[in-house]
Amino acid sequence: PRPEPFHDEALAHKPCKSSAEQVAEHYNTRRELGMVERLRTRITGLRVFNNWVKSLLINSHAFPGCKVLDLGCGKGGDLRKWGYAQIGEYVGMDIAQVSVEQAEARYNEMGMLTRFPARFYAQDCYGEPLEKTLRPVDYQANLISTQFCLHYAFESEKKARQTMLNISSHLAPGGAFICTIPNANWLVKRMREEKSKSYGNSVYRVEFSKYSNSDERISRYGVAYAFTLDEAVEDCTEYLVHMPSFIQLAQEYGLELLYCKPFHELYQQSICNQKALELFQRMRVVDESRPEISADEWEAVGIYLAIAFTKRQ
Ligand code: SAM
Repeated sequence: PRPEPFHDEALAHKPCKSSAEQVAEHYNTRRELGMVERLRTRITGLRVFNNWVKSLLINSHAFPGCKVLDLGCGKGGDLRKWGYAQIGEYVGMDIAQVSVEQAEARYNEMGMLTRFPARFYAQDCYGEPLEKTLRPVDYQANLISTQFCLHYAFESEKKARQTMLNISSHLAPGGAFICTIPNANWLVKRMREEKSKSYGNSVYRVEFSKYSNSDERISRYGVAYAFTLDEAVEDCTEYLVHMPSFIQLAQEYGLELLYCKPFHELYQQSICNQKALELFQRMRVVDESRPEISADEWEAVGIYLAIAFTKRQ
């Protein structure tokens, strides 16, 4: 079940674009919504819910003073979350130069109390060696985060391998790697249920029909679909992440799976936990002004998986 409508008692407790440049162009040209606009869109509930999930992941794996590497940091939407987690140092990277500039500007606006030393770089984190910018001998993170972006790496095996190498070589032994990606099983199951290569609802749209993927099975790499999420992503090419291949690949690069949970399941488990519930209330995932996450938003929430790995000691 999706979160209950708000009441006190409940609370008392892109087309045919495939290259890295095209992804960068897509995100570079997305207009940044102001705070007021963000509060009013049709996917406000989904946005806040997803932010809650990211906060849960961050709070579970970050520790005071830790070094964080955010690969695909976007416009810096998670900076405050890292500040609340009292991290010691942050490096944010993204292929979209404009987003990186916006992230840096957002960082400069942060209050001194929640601020931490940070550096930002525009760089392809999946198709190119990271060490062009950050040499592993000089830098080892305790925590690497790729939120809502790792699926772009599954365009090809070469790219996925480069990504795993980038992550593994920059993560200290015992460190964690956290990510959120679309659930390929869910996307394909839904396509079969709908008996159509295009489906969606009022807030999202998935179109396998725009590509000549050979069949409807989840291949290991390069199975493309166009994804649109109201006011966030428009007709952007994404790739299915074949989970068994991802887990095996990660293992080859010294990363062991800790968990992989669909967002709906994570919600059901976490909401029983006092701290997660308090965060849910503080972040106003639902409140008096927006007492529920719409059914269409809740379906879109169900697309995603929260995943964590740890690097072998
Ligand atoms: N992680 C941020 C968040 O959760 O708010 C941004 C998520 S946004 C949906 C996806 C991001 O992935 C975009 O900022 C995009 O530029 C970035 N991205 C896509 N391909 C990339 C690549 N090869 N290297 C680095 N960043 C990439």
